[in-house]
Amino acid sequence: MAVVVQKYGGTSVGDINRIKNVANRVKATRNAGNDVLVVVSARSGVTNRLVSEAKTLHENPDEREMDMLLTVGEQETIALTAIALHALDVPAVSRTGGQAGIITDHEHTRARILKIDGHDLRDQLAKGKVVIVAGFQGVNKEGQTTTLGRGGSDLSAIALAVAIKADLCQIFTDVEGVYTADPRVVPNARKMDVITYDEMLELASSGSKVMQPRAVEFAYKYGINFEIRSSFNNNTGTMVKGEMESMEDVVVRGVAVDKNQAKIIVSGLPDVPGSTAKVFNALADANVNVDMIVQNIARAGKANLTFTVSLDDTSRAKKAVSGILDSISRSSVKIIGNIAKLSVVGVGMRSHSGIAATLFSALAKSNINIQLISTSEIKISVAIDLDKADEACRVVHQAFDLDKS
Ligand code: ASP
Ligand code: MG
Repeated sequence: MAVVVQKYGGTSVGDINRIKNVANRVKATRNAGNDVLVVVSARSGVTNRLVSEAKTLHENPDEREMDMLLTVGEQETIALTAIALHALDVPAVSRTGGQAGIITDHEHTRARILKIDGHDLRDQLAKGKVVIVAGFQGVNKEGQTTTLGRGGSDLSAIALAVAIKADLCQIFTDVEGVYTADPRVVPNARKMDVITYDEMLELASSGSKVMQPRAVEFAYKYGINFEIRSSFNNNTGTMVKGEMESMEDVVVRGVAVDKNQAKIIVSGLPDVPGSTAKVFNALADANVNVDMIVQNIARAGKANLTFTVSLDDTSRAKKAVSGILDSISRSSVKIIGNIAKLSVVGVGMRSHSGIAATLFSALAKSNINIQLISTSEIKISVAIDLDKADEACRVVHQAFDLDKS
C-alpha cells in the first residue's frame, strides 16, 4: 500500500499505442495495491510544433498566449490517458494543473510553483481513482494559466509527490536511467544504479538532458528520492537520492557534454574597478546565465573578458554587452559559436586529488585544445571545439575507467 507518482514523458505517450502501454503500466501498479497519481507530458513533438507555428505568426509571441497555447499539448494527453484507463476498467480522472491545485507566480512561460493544494487529489485517490495531472502547467492567483519552463513536467511530478507525500516518485522516459556518458556517443557507457542529487544536478545542467535541472533542485530541497527509468521495459533505473559515505569512493561518476554553448569575448575593457561588474550587471538585467568566466591579465590598462553562455542566449547577451560597451571606448565584443562544454562530475572529487590532471592529460593525448576551465567542488568543466566534443567524451570516459563498475 503505497502512494506512487509516475511521470511519463513525451516519447512515452508519443502515440495511441504508447498511451495504451502507459495505461497498462498504471493499471498494473494500481493492481499491486498502490494509489497512483500520473503526470504526463505533451506527446513528443507537439510542444515544439506549437512553438514554431506561433513563431510563424509573430517573431516574439505574447507570453500569456504562449502559455494558453502550449498547455493544450498536455491537456490532450491527460484526457487520452484517462480514456485509455477507462477502456481497461480502471477508474481514472484527469486534472489540468490548475484543477490539481498547482498555484504559481505570474511569470508566464517560466513560472515558479508557490504552493500546491493537494486536497482534491488526495480525495480522488481515496476514492480509488487514478488521477492524471497535466505536467508543465499551473495557474496564478488570478486564475491565469502559466507554464513552468520547457521540460517542466518533471518539476510538476516532483512537486506533486511532495504535496501528496508520495512514497515513491518514478520518472518514466525513453532511456533506462542516468548513464556515465551519452550511450549514443560512448558505446560502453554504463547505467548507474544510484546517483546523488548534487551529481544529478551537475549532470542535468551540464548537458545531460535526462531531466529538468529545476526538478532535481526541488527534489533535493524537499528530500524526495526519485527513480528515472524506461517506460518501454521493466528494468530498474537510476535512483536519485541524498549522499551516503560510500559514494565518495567513486571519484568521477559521469561525463556530460553540452553542445549548446557559445563563447563571448569582450576585449579592451579598461582595467579599473567596476568594468567587469558593468558587463555582468548588463547580462543579469538581460536575464542571461553566464557559466565559465576568465579574465586575462591586463596589458596597457586593457583587459579581456571571456565567458560562455547558452547558444540560445547569444543574441540577448551580445545586445546587453554592446549596450554598455558604447560607453566604454575601444572595447569590442565577439561571439564564437562552435564550442562545447565537457564536464566530469562526482562527489568523490571532494576527497580525491589528481582529477584535473587526468582530465587534461587525456585531452592532451588526443590533441584536444582546452579553451576555458571552470571548477566546482564536484565538477570540472572545459570548453573545447565543438568538432572534438564526441571524441573528447570517449577519451575522458576511458581515462576515468567509467566503463568498469
Ligand atoms: N511539453 C513540455 C515541453 O516539451 C513540458 C515537458 O515535456 O516536460 O517542454
Ligand atoms: Mg521531458
